[in-house]
This record gives sequence, C-alpha cells and structure tokens, in this order.
Amino acid sequence: MMRSCPKCQSSQIDAGYVVDHGYGEKKVASFHAGAPDKRWWGLKTSKAATTPVTVYRCTRCGYLESYVKG
Ligand SMILES: [Zn+2]
Repeated sequence: MMRSCPKCQSSQIDAGYVVDHGYGEKKVASFHAGAPDKRWWGLKTSKAATTPVTVYRCTRCGYLESYVKG
C-alpha cells in the first residue's frame, strides 16, 4: 500500500511502533478503548480492549500517524 504524508505529501513513510517502557519491560504501545481508569497503583486495563498501535513516520517532516487494526 502506497502511503503519503498528509502534511507534506512526501511518500517517504517508515512503518514502526511506539515502545512502552514500563516495569523495566519494553512493550509495543497499545490503544485502549474508552476513558483511562486510573487507580492508586496505575492504570486499570483490559487485555480484550487493547490493540497494538502501528505508527507511520514521515521521514521528511517527522509527522506521525498512528493506526490500530481490528
Ligand atoms: Zn511529511
């Protein structure tokens, strides 16, 4: 699939992902549906509601576009 940057129309787009650094563990950042459920120990998340995020970076202007599949 040919992508182009919505900001500068460059076709130099790199696919990647955002690294989530938590508890000394590196994970792919995920999209979670709904509002954040904040608790004293952190965020309460549901595995069923999280989907990994794919990020596309324009190598010309640096614009990031995020996509969640499914
Ligand atoms: Zn661009």
